[in-house]
Amino acid sequence: MLDAVVIGAGPNGLTAAVELARRGMAVEVFEAHATIGGGARTEELTLPGFRHDPCSAVHPLAAGSPAFTAMGLERFGLQWLHPDIPMAHPFPDGTAAVLARSVGETAMSLGAHDAGTYRRLLAPFLGKWDSLAADFLRTQWLGLPRDPVTYARFGLAAAQPVALLDRRFRDQKARGLFAGLAAHVIAPLTSPGTAGAAIMFALAAHAGGWPVPRGGSQAVPDALAALLRLHGGVVHTDFEVKRLDDLPPARAYIFDTSPTALARIAGLGNAYRGVRYGPGVFKIDYALSGPVPWTSAEARRAGTVHLGPTSGEIGTALRAAADGRAPSVPFLITSQPSLIDPTRAPEGKHTFWVYGHVPHGWEGDATEAVERQLERFAPGFRDLVLARAVAGPPQLAARNANYVGGDICAGSAAGLGLVIRPKLARNPYTTAHPAVFLCSQSAPPGPGVHGMAGHHAARAVWRRLRPVR
Ligand SMILES: Cc1cc2nc3c(=O)[nH]c(=O)nc-3n(C[C@H](O)[C@H](O)[C@H](O)COP(=O)(O)OP(=O)(O)OC[C@H]3O[C@@H](n4cnc5c(N)ncnc54)[C@H](O)[C@@H]3O)c2cc1C
Repeated sequence: MLDAVVIGAGPNGLTAAVELARRGMAVEVFEAHATIGGGARTEELTLPGFRHDPCSAVHPLAAGSPAFTAMGLERFGLQWLHPDIPMAHPFPDGTAAVLARSVGETAMSLGAHDAGTYRRLLAPFLGKWDSLAADFLRTQWLGLPRDPVTYARFGLAAAQPVALLDRRFRDQKARGLFAGLAAHVIAPLTSPGTAGAAIMFALAAHAGGWPVPRGGSQAVPDALAALLRLHGGVVHTDFEVKRLDDLPPARAYIFDTSPTALARIAGLGNAYRGVRYGPGVFKIDYALSGPVPWTSAEARRAGTVHLGPTSGEIGTALRAAADGRAPSVPFLITSQPSLIDPTRAPEGKHTFWVYGHVPHGWEGDATEAVERQLERFAPGFRDLVLARAVAGPPQLAARNANYVGGDICAGSAAGLGLVIRPKLARNPYTTAHPAVFLCSQSAPPGPGVHGMAGHHAARAVWRRLRPVR
C-alpha cells in the first residue's frame, strides 16, 4: 500500500508530494494531462521556436514562497530571470507608474504627494517578507503568527478593500497601480482583502522581484518533479482520475483539483455544493516579429505591464466580468518574457502573454477588445502579430478541469473568498473522508504558483499518518 496518492501534478500537488516523500513516505502522483505542471506549463502554442506559457508566467509568489525556498529548487534547474522593472502601469499619454525593485524608484513614479504616502504605507513591512509570507500564505486560524506585531499591523491594512486604500492617494498613478495589483485576485475592487493582495504584490517586488523562470513556467514543476523523484516519488501522466477505485490503495488521497471534482471522485456527495466559482479570463498568447511598441519607455523595460489605466476603468472592467457582462474595455495583465529570456523566441522575435477578465463560462471572442486596448498603449502592435493562440473560459476549462467556467483561481476570491475557501472549516485541507485531502489553490492561501496550499495539506496528511512513537 502507498502512503499517499496525489491527484493532479500542478504546483500544489507536486509540493504536497515532495514534502511527504521527503519525510520518507511512498508517494505517487496521477496527472490527467500529457505533461505535468497544471497552471505552470510552457508549450509551443503558436509557431516553432516560440515557447509560450498558456497559464502562469510571472512569479513573485513562487520566488518568495516559503515552501519552494525550503526545497532549493535552483539545484534542479530553476533559474529566476529579473527584468529591469518588475511591473509598469502605463497611461495613454506615454507616462507610467512603475513597481520597481527599489521603493524609492516606485515612489518617485507616483508623483510628489503620493510618493510619501507610498513610502509610509510600506515602511513597516519592508525587510519582513519571510514572516509576512509565512503568516499570510496560510489559513489564518491555524496556528499563531510568527511575528504578531507585524501580523496585526499588516492585517489592519490588508483587510480593507483596495477601493478604500486608494483613497489615501491623490493621483491616478498610485490609484491605478494599486487597483491593477489587486486585480490579480479577480474580485471587485470593493471586496475585503483586496488591499492586502495589492500590498503583498508590491512588497514581493521590493523583496524578491517579479521574475520569470528561464525557459518558461514549466521549469517550476520540472524542478519539483526532479526533487520528488530523488526521494523515490513517481509521477504518472495521461491518467485522468475519475473514481478513487482507479487508483492504487493508499493511506491518503490528496486532491490538487477543484472541490467539486474532489467530491465527485471521492464520493463525498454535496460536501462542496455551496462553493462559488468566479469570473473567467480570456487569454491570448502572441508570436511577434519584434518587441511590443509601447509608447511608455518604462513599459519597454518591464517584465509585466498592466493596462488599466485608471482605478475607475479597472474597477468597471472587473465589475462587468463579475456581473456577467463582457468588458468592452478590459483591464489587461501582460507579460513579455522574451525581453529577458532568449530561449523563448527565435532571435529578434518575441512571445507576448496577455489576459483580461470575462464572465464565468463566457463563450464569446474578446480578441478585438483586447487588441484595441493594446493599440491604445502600443500603437502598431497588430502589425507585429505573426500568430496568436486564443483561449476563453471553455478552452481553459477543457485544458485544466480545475478552471471551472474559466475561473483560473478555482474558487471565487470575492467577499471573504481568499480567507474562507473552499468553505468554512477549521482545517480546509481535510474532508469528511479521513483519507481524503484537498491541496489545490481552492484552499488557502488561494491562487498563484507558490505551493503553499500543497505545503499545508502535506502537514495535515502527515499529522494524520505519521508513525506514533
Ligand atoms: C491564464 C493564467 C494566468 C496565470 N498567471 C499567473 C501568474 O502569472 N503567476 C502566478 O503565480 N499564477 C498565475 N496563474 C495561476 C496559477 O496558474 C495557479 O494559481 C496555480 O497553477 C494553481 O496551482 P494548483 O496546483 O492548485 O492547480 P493547477 O496548477 O491547476 O494544477 C492542477 C492539476 O491537476 C490536474 N487534474 C485536475 N483534475 C484531475 C483529475 N481528475 N485527474 C488527474 N489530474 C487532474 C490538472 O490537469 C492540473 O495539471 C495563472 C493561471 C492562468 C490560467
